[in-house]
Amino acid sequence: MELLRKLEILADSAKYDVACTSSGSGRKGQPGKIGNTVQAGLCHTFTADGRCVSLLKVLLTNICAYDCKYCVNRRSNDLPRAAFTPRELAQLTIEFYRRNYIEGLFLSSAVLKNPDYTMEQMIHTLELLRGEYGFNGYIHAKTIPGADPVLVRRLGLLADRLSVNIELPSEASLSLLAPDKGRKAIFRPMGQIAQTAQENSRELQVYRSAPKFAPAGQSTQMIVGATPETDYQILNLTQGLYKKYSLKRVFFSAYIPVVEDSRLPALDVKPPLLREHRLYQADWLLRYYQFDAGEILDKENPNFNPYLDPKCNWAVNHYHLFPVDVNRAPYEMLLRVPGIGPRSAKRIRTARRQQTLDWEGLRWLGVVLKRAQYFITCKGYAGPHSPRREMVVRSLLDPKAFGYGSYQTSMFDNDTPLLAEAAPQVQQLAQEGMAPALAAKTVEEEAVKWLAAKL
Ligand code: SF4
Repeated sequence: MELLRKLEILADSAKYDVACTSSGSGRKGQPGKIGNTVQAGLCHTFTADGRCVSLLKVLLTNICAYDCKYCVNRRSNDLPRAAFTPRELAQLTIEFYRRNYIEGLFLSSAVLKNPDYTMEQMIHTLELLRGEYGFNGYIHAKTIPGADPVLVRRLGLLADRLSVNIELPSEASLSLLAPDKGRKAIFRPMGQIAQTAQENSRELQVYRSAPKFAPAGQSTQMIVGATPETDYQILNLTQGLYKKYSLKRVFFSAYIPVVEDSRLPALDVKPPLLREHRLYQADWLLRYYQFDAGEILDKENPNFNPYLDPKCNWAVNHYHLFPVDVNRAPYEMLLRVPGIGPRSAKRIRTARRQQTLDWEGLRWLGVVLKRAQYFITCKGYAGPHSPRREMVVRSLLDPKAFGYGSYQTSMFDNDTPLLAEAAPQVQQLAQEGMAPALAAKTVEEEAVKWLAAKL
C-alpha cells in the first residue's frame, strides 16, 4: 500500500482520540538536534465541532485484535486497514517536521497481535526518531493496556507525555463494551507511570543528566454518553484519578455513534457536546478553583444543570452565602464568586493589601462585573439595589445552552443554525419543527423562571 494511502487511513482512524495537548513539557532545543517543545508543542487545529486535533495525529495501525463495541477500529468492523512499519512512520514524521507541517507527534495504536508486540513497534518508531533522526520535538504516546511494565518504562523514556485511555467510566461498562480490556490492565500502567515519574524526579534532583521519564506527565481519556454513568460518577472518578495517579489532564470525549449495537446509543443520537463542555468546566473547578467533586454534584443532583456552568450553578444553590465583601473575603471564597477567576482573585488579594478596592478598581483587575455585581459588596456599595431574581439569573445563563453563542446578534433570525452544544431541550423543540430561535427563547424563559425560584 502506498504510504500516503496508509497515512489517510491511519490519520482518519485516530480522529476520535482527543487527548492531544502538548502543555507541560520542557524539552529545550539542543545543538545538533531538531525540534523544541518549548517554542512550539504539538500543532493543533480545530474541527467544526470544536474538537482539538493535532496535525500529525496518527495510529501506528488500525488492525486490531480487540473488539471494543464503541470503537470504529474494532476487529469485527469492516473498514480499510493499514499498518506503518516503524521506519515508515519515523521517516514520515521527520519529513513533515522538516517541511514545517507539524511540531510533534501524537502516536496511538490499535492492538496489533497483542499489547507487547504493538508497544515494541511503537518503541522502535520512537527510537528511530529520537536516535537515528535526532528528533527532539514533542511526542505524546499512548500506552497499550496490558503491555509489559518494562515496555511502558522504555516508552516513557522516549516520549514527553504518556497516556492510558480509561475509555469508560465504570468497570461494569468496561466489561460490557470492551471485554478484552480489564480494569487492571488500565490502572496498572497508570500506577506505574505515576510511581516511575516520582522516582525519576527524585533521581533528577541528584543526577541532572539522568534520562527523563515522561516529563510532561500522563493523561487519560474517557468516553461520555456511551454508557449510563451519571456526571457525578464521572466527576468523582476524575477527581480520584487526579489524586491517585497525579494525572495532568483527564480528557472527555462525547460519544459519537459510529456502530449499530443494542448496548449503545442509536446512530441518530447526537453526541452530548454540552455535557462534554460541562465536564471540562467542572474539571477546571477541580484543578484551579479548589472545588471538591462532592460540592459540584451529589447523589440527589447527579447531573449538570444544562443552563448554567457548574460554578454559577453552585452560586445559585448557595445564594445565602452571598454577597461577600471583596476587601475582606478569603481567597477561597473569592474564587467562588461568578465573574471572578483565579487570576482576578489573585490580583484582588494583592491589590487590597495596598488599598481598599472600589468598583472601578475591580473592573481594572479583570472582574466580570456583569456577573459579579450580584454577589459582592465593595467599599460600601452593594451592587444594584434589590435586584430582581430574574436579572441575577439572566446574567449567569450560559449562551451556548440556548444554541446561539456567537450567533447571539442574529438570535431572531430563524435561519440561524443552533450550535451543536445547545441544551437537549432546545434541540428537541427544534427537531419537533419549532424555529431554532423560538425554541431557544422558549427554553430560556422557562429556565429563567425555574432558576429564579431557586434563589
Ligand atoms: S483496543 Fe479497542 S478501542 Fe483500541 S483500537 Fe482496538 S477496538 Fe478500538
